[in-house]
Amino acid sequence: MFTYTARPAHIVFGPGTLEQVREEVERLGRSRVLVLASPDLAEPGDRVEKALGPLAVGRFDGAAMHTPVEVTEQAVALLREAGADCVVAVGGGSTTGLAKALAVRTGVDQVILPTTYAGSEVTPVLGETVDGVKTTRSSPDILPETVIYDVELSRELPVPIAVTSGVNALAHAVEALYSPDANPVIDGMALDAIRRLARGLRGLAEDTLEARTELLQGAWLAGTCLGAVGMGLHHKLCHTLGGSFGLPHAPMHTVVLPHVMAYNAAAAPDAMRRIADALGATDAPTAVYDLVVAAGGPTSLRELGLAESDLDRAAGLATAAPYPNPAEPTRDGIARLLRRAWAGERPA
Ligand code: NAD
Repeated sequence: MFTYTARPAHIVFGPGTLEQVREEVERLGRSRVLVLASPDLAEPGDRVEKALGPLAVGRFDGAAMHTPVEVTEQAVALLREAGADCVVAVGGGSTTGLAKALAVRTGVDQVILPTTYAGSEVTPVLGETVDGVKTTRSSPDILPETVIYDVELSRELPVPIAVTSGVNALAHAVEALYSPDANPVIDGMALDAIRRLARGLRGLAEDTLEARTELLQGAWLAGTCLGAVGMGLHHKLCHTLGGSFGLPHAPMHTVVLPHVMAYNAAAAPDAMRRIADALGATDAPTAVYDLVVAAGGPTSLRELGLAESDLDRAAGLATAAPYPNPAEPTRDGIARLLRRAWAGERPA
């Protein structure tokens, strides 16, 4: 038995689609836009503002990691002062998080132009930080109305970030395949995402438009999986490591994913066989590890700054509350997994 609910997002995909941003805001019946960007993405923010012409009535470049509420409050004040009825966000998951936080507080519509592969733009989930503590909520009001995937814009993402962000997307598709909510629609999207993301990651060495197209399309499909079905151990572990130890989001996903796959392999043989097929390999966890190594991505939590002395606490935090996962997350098992991931060993 399964249930499936399609989510009502409008997607525009292709090179140069940033130029359609004004038309997309008008399609929503909105006319006063607050443009959101981050300090790193001021230039694409300028391009979006120009393409919006007179529809742009304000600009906020202060989006920050993990959507701190103090930043959201500043942006809400600016939004109200400008009388905006829509936000257009250009950036990664951090900027998308700010757009969602504004939409859920004020009811404005959202048009998102993603520059990474995090996938937040197609989920109804918002993670926010209050006094350093991250809380997550889900609501249909949080899901952005429109997403413009401009492949040209995504080419500006530096290759090292594209590698880790691409593996972050891969993790959504992998965990969707062994989710308790798995269903044929999402399985199909997840497998197509894995094929595209693997081709895109391999193609990053030459960094062609084709590789970036595969990555962005894979990211959209994988993000849709993330928004549709519950995730397992991998996302739980990364949430813990990000929240409690401040590890960077996409690099941490990149290191942890092959190890979680190895942990789950015996308990989810069918999913692992389908993932291996999609990767053109025989063993899914080592195939993902090798893909990361070949793309020059990080392989150890040590290199991301996690102290060896934190491993035990991390294992405790990650197993403090039960959650669905193919293999039971035991404290000893997770401690072993984390140690291998910390040292950068091949998954086993
Ligand atoms: P991010 O938005 O912080 O971007 C990562 C880095 O890439 C940043 O330094 C950013 O400045 C840089 N960057 C992005 N685009 C660039 C470009 N074109 N050129 C140069 N640099 C660029 O991080 P992310 O990995 O995209 O997203 C992670 C955040 O999103 C986390 O807070 C995570 O919790 C959240 N997230 C939420 C969901 C959800 O469904 N709610 C899903 C995925 C991620």
